[in-house]
Amino acid sequence: MAALIVRGGEVVSVSGVFAADVVIDGEKIVGLVDPGTGTADREIDARGCYVLPGGIDTHTHLENPALAFTTVSSDDFHTGTIAAAAGGTTTIVDFVKSRPEESIYDAFQARRAVADEKVVVDYGLHPMVPSNALEVDSISELRQLAAEGATSWKFFMAYHGMMVDDATLIAGFRAAAEEGVLPMVHAENGHLVQDATDRLVEAGMVEEHHHLAAHTHTSEQEAVHRAIAIAESVGSALFVVHVSSRYAAAEIQQARARAVPVHGETCPQYLLAAYEDYEGLGHEAAKYLCSPPIRERANQESLWDALVSDALSTIGTDHAAFCMGQPDDLPPQKGRGVGYFPDVPNGVPGIEDRLSLIWQAGVRQGRFDVSRFVDLVSTRPARLFGLYPQKGTIAPGSDADLVVWDPEARRTVRAADQHMRTDYNLYEGTEIVGGPTHVVSRGELVVEHGEISAARGRGRYLARRRPIEPVGSGG
Ligand SMILES: [Zn+2]
Repeated sequence: MAALIVRGGEVVSVSGVFAADVVIDGEKIVGLVDPGTGTADREIDARGCYVLPGGIDTHTHLENPALAFTTVSSDDFHTGTIAAAAGGTTTIVDFVKSRPEESIYDAFQARRAVADEKVVVDYGLHPMVPSNALEVDSISELRQLAAEGATSWKFFMAYHGMMVDDATLIAGFRAAAEEGVLPMVHAENGHLVQDATDRLVEAGMVEEHHHLAAHTHTSEQEAVHRAIAIAESVGSALFVVHVSSRYAAAEIQQARARAVPVHGETCPQYLLAAYEDYEGLGHEAAKYLCSPPIRERANQESLWDALVSDALSTIGTDHAAFCMGQPDDLPPQKGRGVGYFPDVPNGVPGIEDRLSLIWQAGVRQGRFDVSRFVDLVSTRPARLFGLYPQKGTIAPGSDADLVVWDPEARRTVRAADQHMRTDYNLYEGTEIVGGPTHVVSRGELVVEHGEISAARGRGRYLARRRPIEPVGSGG
């Protein structure tokens, strides 16, 4: 007899919804059977609920060094993955940043050791390409890491100390194409951002909300256009993380229309928060500071449209949590830059609320259906980042990562109730309808009606395969 059965729910895939019981043995799904026909030692009652593949967040920054290693984000691999699980996310892909003069290969191994001991869900890692990659031959180390399952590499087009020049993008994208690796870009023109920042500083326009003016639509659009041109020239695929500007999304849409394999991600904060929310908040605006910035409300609906048209095809969080207050055991948090936006650590919390926020605003408000939702938050990320079909689908042979999703579950977002280690939530007070009742990770019930039981370190490193969908699914 199988170990576990999820009974009476509606199983969701990218192609439809169907009534089935999900039979789980050990860490794997072993069958989908007609409702009521399977038997198992233990049963989860999913009547009235959807059964979704576990959420996959391919953009998290847990215990992430920031501002030239002077601070670190507040959620570590333990608290961050507990928060992920609580919200229905059973896989994350985080990043590896090397210190100046440190080898990216060594940094990768060190980060794995840190994460392995803490994670409660499975995880992968994207190495960040060092700004001096061509001088120190990081490319050969990245090729080695690809063989160890790091089949996506992140390139920064902004931030001094991290940004790479066009020569590095060209060589790096070419190496990625040769290795079957998906290159990712943080696409803002770092020189334009720095120039705008310098001018704002000279003019004394340095309050928190002026951050937006330092990160223009143009600087994002230009970088996206250039990254696409380089990818197209060397024959590589491309993944643009955290698209925030409708003009950047339009660049991706145009490239996809001519069959360039470029893919775009956006994040809940760009879809649901707006400049108007923090413009008048004074120092409290630091809660909203991230890059690219949370833009004007008039920009939002175009991003939703891009998710519907598949110009944008995944939703990650870019979870980089910092506290407004200053816990004793952490380096300077958001308060580091009070009244001076260039010193405010960039990043917002979101790993816990991604599924419920997008469910409410995407599915419940009628922008797309439940199959599209699953594609955006699980299946497409799995396909693009070399995890499919181990992850991202409910099918025999796949890991038993799934979420029983009650479309009528109600809660009010409160920082005081969350598992993320921050003292605020951008959506404080928002009423949400729809949420997880049970979360299963590799066959283990890790969340049951809000109660989390997941041993520290139970998550595993995922040696990812080559992406199976470099060309995307059309324009
Ligand atoms: Zn990020």
